[in-house]
Amino acid sequence: MGLLELLRGDTAGPTVTQYECRNCGTTLSPNAEECSTCGSNEIAEYTL
Ligand SMILES: [Zn+2]
Repeated sequence: MGLLELLRGDTAGPTVTQYECRNCGTTLSPNAEECSTCGSNEIAEYTL
C-alpha cells in the first residue's frame, strides 16, 4: 500500500494532507512528532 492510498483510507474525499520535515524535507507519517531522519520537531503540514 502506498502512502497516498494510506492517507485516503477513509471517505474524506480527494483532500490529502502530507507531513514533511521543515529541516530536511523527509515525508513523515501523520502522527509523527519528530523527523525520523534528522530528529527535528518542526513538521510542515500540507493539504494537497
Ligand atoms: Zn528531518
